[in-house]
Amino acid sequence: MKNQKFKHPESLMMSHGYDPKLSEGAIKCPIFQTSTFVFDSAEAGKGFFEIAYGLREKGPTEEMGLIYSRLNNPDLEILENRLCLWDGADDCAVFESGMSAISTIMLEFLSPGDCVLYSNPLYGGSYHFIKNVLCRFGIEAIAFNAHEPENKINDIIEKHGAQDKVKMIYIETPANPTNQLVDIEACRKVADRFSKDDQRVLLAVDNTYMGPIWQHPLAHGADLVVYSATKYIGGHSDVIAGAVLGSAELMTRVKTLRTFLGNMAGPWTGWLLMRSLETLKVRMNEQAHNAEQIANYLQAHPKVKKVHYLGFLTEKDNPQNFAVYQRQLKSAGAMISFDIDGGEKECFRFLNSLKLIKLAVSLGSTESLAEHPSTMTHSDVTPEDKALYGISDSLVRLSIGVEHYEDLITDIGSALDAV
Ligand SMILES: *Cc1c(COP(=O)(O)O)cnc(C)c1O
Repeated sequence: MKNQKFKHPESLMMSHGYDPKLSEGAIKCPIFQTSTFVFDSAEAGKGFFEIAYGLREKGPTEEMGLIYSRLNNPDLEILENRLCLWDGADDCAVFESGMSAISTIMLEFLSPGDCVLYSNPLYGGSYHFIKNVLCRFGIEAIAFNAHEPENKINDIIEKHGAQDKVKMIYIETPANPTNQLVDIEACRKVADRFSKDDQRVLLAVDNTYMGPIWQHPLAHGADLVVYSATKYIGGHSDVIAGAVLGSAELMTRVKTLRTFLGNMAGPWTGWLLMRSLETLKVRMNEQAHNAEQIANYLQAHPKVKKVHYLGFLTEKDNPQNFAVYQRQLKSAGAMISFDIDGGEKECFRFLNSLKLIKLAVSLGSTESLAEHPSTMTHSDVTPEDKALYGISDSLVRLSIGVEHYEDLITDIGSALDAV
């Protein structure tokens, strides 16, 4: 690799994997808006297919050529190479949505009779896929609550008699919307405990909330990391996309299924995400800086009962979460939720009074967003689970953007005055 001298991903986001000489000297990677690619010769075409279909190994100096945009396309390949740098992964596959990334790994690594263990609460779409789609294929699902420790998770597997059936542990941390943390290293230990010589229990982590800047699950023992690239990676609320990263061996399987499901991202999405990656770190760090100011403001406000912000974790109040936070996270992030003094009516008055902050779901974008989890993103969670996870009628979730924090505070302050 030419760039080995420069080791910080942010330095490489403008150049890694792209050679201007191959594109008329264009400083930026063009959009290869093409479905198919012309072979130099019939022999070359034959060779590409032999490798693509696994009929033989790639030779030591051989370069895999371009065939057809469902299999490979320069915008996707270069984007995937760049995404690998942040997580220190061997390989990456980009998808047309976060949900297609998530559903593809579950379909590839789970079979009828298997069981998936997941952390609760999960993103609503992932939960729905596990509960309503995987079960139709005879794949069982059992859950543990985000705050439960390793021995409790082991007990849950044994109590369900799933020792021989569990094939994947699927977690999301921090949990949405209350920022409860799941210990990735503890989950690795659980996965190892139930792995057999010929069957490794895979640990997959949805890192959408923190990645790829603030948390690196592969470094803590995860096998696969998945993203909704719609969120921080895209970062401008203008594209839907997803990504999966992991070892070469696992990613070959993921990419093969992607080829046959046909759910890869298109060249235009690839190009948009490459553009977004150039500013990923500056955006995310500014968002985290703004979030800290806003969390402090909310914490001191008389109409706010409780602020759920990772920066407020203390060893005294929550030693378990605090230890995970220190080991696993590089930042408190830019997601805040808080309980207003009141209920749904007060929350709606607040949300309807915001001017600069937009009332919308999604997260991780340049503009700040606000929503009411109980009636919006988490409206189909059962009342018991809502109570368990602290998703009350008084909870508001904020995704902090890159505006000036003083203006955000002015907006929040006026909206709270209206409550
Ligand atoms: C948005 C989101 C998803 C789903 O991603 P899409 O790009 O909307 O398909 C999955 N997980 C988390 C944590 C998310 O926030």
